[in-house]
Amino acid sequence: MNRVYEEVKKRNPHEPEFHQAVKEIFLSLVPVFAKNPKYMKQAILERIVEPERMITFRVPWVDDQGQIHVNRGYRVQFNSTLGPYKGGLRFHPSVNASIIKFLGFEQILKNSLTGLPIGGGKGGSDFDPKGKSDNEIMRFTQSFMTELSRHIGPNVDVPAGDIGVGAREIGYMFGQYKKLRGYEAGVLTGKGLGYGGSLVRTEATGYGTVYFVEEMLKEQGLSFEGSTVVVSGSGNVSIYAIEKAQQLGAKVVACSDSNGYIYDENGLDLETIKRIKEVERKRIKEYVLEHPQAEYVEGCSGIWSIPCDIALPCATQNEIDSESAQTLISNGVKAIGEGANMPSTLEAIDLFLESKVLFGPAKAVNAGGVAVSALEMSQNSMRLSWTFEEVDSKLQDIMASIYRNSMDAAEEYGHPGNLVYGANIAGFLKVADAMIAHGVI
Ligand code: GLU
Repeated sequence: MNRVYEEVKKRNPHEPEFHQAVKEIFLSLVPVFAKNPKYMKQAILERIVEPERMITFRVPWVDDQGQIHVNRGYRVQFNSTLGPYKGGLRFHPSVNASIIKFLGFEQILKNSLTGLPIGGGKGGSDFDPKGKSDNEIMRFTQSFMTELSRHIGPNVDVPAGDIGVGAREIGYMFGQYKKLRGYEAGVLTGKGLGYGGSLVRTEATGYGTVYFVEEMLKEQGLSFEGSTVVVSGSGNVSIYAIEKAQQLGAKVVACSDSNGYIYDENGLDLETIKRIKEVERKRIKEYVLEHPQAEYVEGCSGIWSIPCDIALPCATQNEIDSESAQTLISNGVKAIGEGANMPSTLEAIDLFLESKVLFGPAKAVNAGGVAVSALEMSQNSMRLSWTFEEVDSKLQDIMASIYRNSMDAAEEYGHPGNLVYGANIAGFLKVADAMIAHGVI
């Protein structure tokens, strides 16, 4: 494993996030490789860390002043063992090959955990949607899709949203794909309800996060009811994590954006947050203008100094470092549920596990989003739509079974209760066994 990890670092220089994601998984797989030499003989690690295909492309577009800009587009088609490549598109200035590969690598195992037939992929661009007009967003997404459309399809690769890509962007991309290659309902997920979208897809990642954490709490005789919750971020994942946590009787006292956080010890008003973020597309600090009893604090990491029972990091990668983890632990946090992808550093995860905080890792906790994407693909294939209750109850079942399978795998491989090991092992075994069945391809 060390040899393969060193090789990964050598062949993928300057990609720290990708190295981090690989390292986390390799550490969890030690007991699997000790028990099953076939995975080493079959060079599964060597094969799984190498994307099947990595596409990089130019995305030129014209702003409202007539000036030409060039961004870089990516799509990593990482692993198609279990089905078409599946994973979101991220538009954020921090996007580079390392970020796309870490996300794509995680996605392979996350998608495997859902139990649905989807492989792993991811894409995006270093385009910054912040402050852009609606027309600029449209022109950029159309240019992005002009190239991407050559590489995707309902049985090949099915992108969706991620940071900076929501219903508006998916709508423009769907329109552009249709113009270039013809109507294909299942080429993207996260579509609007009027043209092939699935009910619950908008809510799925946030709701799924809370359903998963509820399973973790239940086993310890705890629940969201009456607990104090801190949620970072205020995008799609955070908003629906807040909604479900509140529905289950929790008091959510803080959330954030990339500039700062809002805090109200009596609990936040979700309707205001939804309006500011989803309708007006403004910054979270606007909240305190309407709710003067709440406070706004500049900077992001301070949110983890707020005492809480449950912390749901739903913003972005590496938002909890060892210092923030230590503060959360000292303040008595009982459970962490990672709604974002890789929000805790490896050091932070170790601290949570050592101090026996219940810890739900991203690829299990936030798998509800991609799971409902896969249900959207099923409905598109059948040309049918399920009701909200139907999809929501499937989502709850999927989250409960991810929890159960991860707990069982952790137990079987000698780390009872450790969901980092459990999720990595359960996700890996299914992909690895199918890779062996398919031969060396
Ligand atoms: N971007 C989400 C994720 O990280 C969803 C991907 C999808 O629905 O395909 O899993």
